[in-house]
Amino acid sequence: MFCKVKASYFFKKYLYCKLCPRRCGKNRFFEKGYCGETAHLRVAYVGPHFGEEPPISGRNGSGTVFLVGCSLKCSFCQNWQISHKGIGRKLKIKELVEKIDRMINEYQVHNVNFVTPDHFIPHIIQVIEQIKANWPAIPIVFNVSGYQDVGILKEIEEYVDIYLPDFKYSDKKLATKLSSCPDYPSVALDAISEMIRQKGFLDIDSPVAKKGVIVRHLILPGHIDNSINALSMLYVEFGKELPLSLMSQYTPVLKQKEQELNRQLKKEEFLRVYQHMLDLGFKNVFVQFPEEVENESAFVPDFTSSQPFKGNLKRLKKGFDTKQLL
Ligand code: SF4
Repeated sequence: MFCKVKASYFFKKYLYCKLCPRRCGKNRFFEKGYCGETAHLRVAYVGPHFGEEPPISGRNGSGTVFLVGCSLKCSFCQNWQISHKGIGRKLKIKELVEKIDRMINEYQVHNVNFVTPDHFIPHIIQVIEQIKANWPAIPIVFNVSGYQDVGILKEIEEYVDIYLPDFKYSDKKLATKLSSCPDYPSVALDAISEMIRQKGFLDIDSPVAKKGVIVRHLILPGHIDNSINALSMLYVEFGKELPLSLMSQYTPVLKQKEQELNRQLKKEEFLRVYQHMLDLGFKNVFVQFPEEVENESAFVPDFTSSQPFKGNLKRLKKGFDTKQLL
């Protein structure tokens, strides 16, 4: 059971913010944190999304809620318009709940999928309380960078059903260079470990997931050793049953200082990582093959458009228009 006392307890966390492992300590009622956000909830997109793994998107789509800002701010972020530039709008909790209610009603999405919610957890907890009062069976997904605070994860255990964490870097130097985050590998492994303790592994064969964890890894062009070591670390920590999503959709959206990152992944790079994953014996996997990436580029978002994901358009039934949702 949820209780209001807990929600207001969470709200105090904006006073001296340590919601993420940056722990920058800002009073977000008066200033922005490293994540770029104050204590005003800001949202960039609410709508069905078909670009997630099959048990998350299902037939009707995942009910995504893209929050503005990010505590990681990777230099290559596909969502840079919202994570770096801050495109989005302020919403009251009640307004967001109404939009999510409408999304569930009109689209019958299979879950409510909060994308990068960490820095707005005090708000999101209150949103979840109200959504669960109306839709007790709908799974709540936290779609996160992997750079989460274990203490905060323990506190929100009862609110989340599915975690979709990234494991971006095994290499501290690369994590420092691209995300100013030297402690990413160890912090992310601890965070994923806590997520698995809470929810277990996601059943990747179920048509619509209800609970569990699946770890995502995006292969970066020119950084194949980072990927190979990332898979090895995941294998050592969690074993070969760990559900994995291996992604090759990297698309340069911002000019990168490092030339290698201004191109897409080569097929031979993908195959080296893929082969290592097979050699380790991972079997609960979703793999995005490079030849599929052209289609996947339809899911590189443009948050200045009323439908940021072009790939969603052909999957939405005629007459449905997500413009109305935000
Ligand atoms: S959530 Fe934002 S303000 Fe809070 S600690 Fe992290 S970066 Fe700083």
